[in-house]
Formats: sequence, C-alpha cells, structure tokens
Amino acid sequence: MRLTFLGTGTSFGVPVPGCGCDVCTSDDPRNRRTRHGLLLEEGGRRLLVDTPPELRLQLVAAHVDRLDAVFITHSHADHVHGIDDLRAFTTRVDRRLPVSVPAEYADDRRARFSYIWGPDARSEPGSSVPGLDLITFEDRDRVRAAGFDLDVVAFPHGWFRSYGFRVGDLAVIVDAKRVPDDAVPLLRGVEVLVINALWFGDPHPTHFNVEEAVAVAEMLEARTTYLTHLTHRLDHAELEDRLPPSVRPAVDGLTIEI
Ligand SMILES: [Zn+2]
Ligand SMILES: [Zn+2]
Ligand SMILES: [Zn+2]
Repeated sequence: MRLTFLGTGTSFGVPVPGCGCDVCTSDDPRNRRTRHGLLLEEGGRRLLVDTPPELRLQLVAAHVDRLDAVFITHSHADHVHGIDDLRAFTTRVDRRLPVSVPAEYADDRRARFSYIWGPDARSEPGSSVPGLDLITFEDRDRVRAAGFDLDVVAFPHGWFRSYGFRVGDLAVIVDAKRVPDDAVPLLRGVEVLVINALWFGDPHPTHFNVEEAVAVAEMLEARTTYLTHLTHRLDHAELEDRLPPSVRPAVDGLTIEI
C-alpha cells in the first residue's frame, strides 16, 4: 500500500494569510502546508481521504488521474470544502464516485452541498455537478472502499467526533483529542501511524499537541509515526530535531510504502 500526504496543514493552512512569523515567511518549502488530505493506493485502486479546499492543486501535484472512492473524516470546512473538485473525475468518464461519510454528518452533507445531494439536485444540460453517491457509516463499522477494508473508529474532537481507521498496517487518526480506550487493541502495533498535532505545549480543547500525539504513538507502539494537521507554530526542521526517532513530521507530497 502506498500513502501520499496531499496536505499536512491545520485548518488555517501554512502560511497563514497576513502572518509575518518565521514559519509563514520561511524559505523552506516543507513549511508550506495545505489542508488535510491523504491518498491510499494499492493494486491500481485509489482512495482519497478528505476533500480539503486545496484539493485541485493537491491532485494536480500528485498526478492523480482517477479515483475509486472517497472517505470523509468529519464535517469541518478544512476537510470537506474542496468536494466540488471531484467533478473532474466524475465528468471525464461519466461515472459516479462512492463517498463514505459518517452517518451523523450525512444530513449536514445533504444540506451544505444540496446542489450535489439535495432532493432537487441535477445539472442543467451542458453543465455538470459532481456525480457522488453518499454512503454512510457508523463508529466501528468495517467500510469497504476502493478495495480497502477500513476498520473505523470515532475519535473525540471537542464536542465533535472525527473518524479515523485502521487498514492493514496503517492507522489514521486526524482531528482527535483522545483515543477511546476500547479502540486501543484495534490500533496497537501498526507499522505506520498518522496522527494530528498542532504545536508544542498549550493543550488545545479539540486537538492533540505534539507531546500528546507522541504519547499516543508510544502507547500504540507504532513503528513509525507521522505528525500531520500542523500549524505555523511548528518549523519543519526544528520539529524534526525535537521528535524521537520513530516520530516524523509529515510534509505535503510525501509518499511512503507500507
Ligand atoms: Zn481539521
Ligand atoms: Zn505564521
Ligand atoms: Zn476538525
């Protein structure tokens, strides 16, 4: 299985518009972070995780010419507001794309993107809307998408919940503040863990800071961990230096084999 980090930034992205901090004005390209997206590939099949605002740019950069399915972690804007860019794939070959969405957010999806999923959704002759089939899932379901079997876990994210998963030797936890105790056996011992981290210090109500993410990585005994959803308070080179050897900062465009 191949994993590509399409976007590794927090909801603001990095650089933050108008910010003059050292990271936002850095020349290091690793300090440029678009919003969260992942691509999983195996046997010619491709699964996209989240549809962030920069999705078109990310898909062009990663040379993605086809997708087989999409998995949405939760409803926050930084994870869903690029959904219209999926139109490129559903109009070129005139096929519908299955989009797996947490059941608790399905009504929000239908309301916010009513032109795709509302009762009157249709395209005018000569125009197009994304051809997306909305499929719902619940916590601890096994979701089959693009040939992958994802064992889904809902993670507390403030008063929200964000859904991650384990697939084979990979666990993905984004926008989480806590790992439910009863999900630990499912997630333990993976080769690769992807987990969200905002910054060092200052606990945040809805996200792990770096220290908390590293503690989860150790608790789950992940062989290698990649931190993502990173803010402009983290300089890539400095972060790399401060992390234990088994924990690495992810970077936009990074591809790893699992
Ligand atoms: Zn987010
Ligand atoms: Zn900044
Ligand atoms: Zn979120």
